[in-house]
Amino acid sequence: MITSMFSAALMFPERAPKCSGAVCCRCHQWTHAPVPVRYIPRPSGAGVTLYACPSHAVEFPHGPTPGELEQGT
Ligand SMILES: [Zn+2]
Repeated sequence: MITSMFSAALMFPERAPKCSGAVCCRCHQWTHAPVPVRYIPRPSGAGVTLYACPSHAVEFPHGPTPGELEQGT
């Protein structure tokens, strides 16, 4: 079940839930407090934002997030 939710998030990044939670890209467990840790831009359209649970977010070196890229500063 968790694997299917993770696959759906990858297939439909623009429809990924932003308020109710997300799947941690490290432990693949659902978290209700996702932290965006990485943004993968795609030349063909919207990029993919990877989320981590609070426990694993600290293990990721923070890259640009969608908001940071839009600011351009
Ligand atoms: Zn995690």
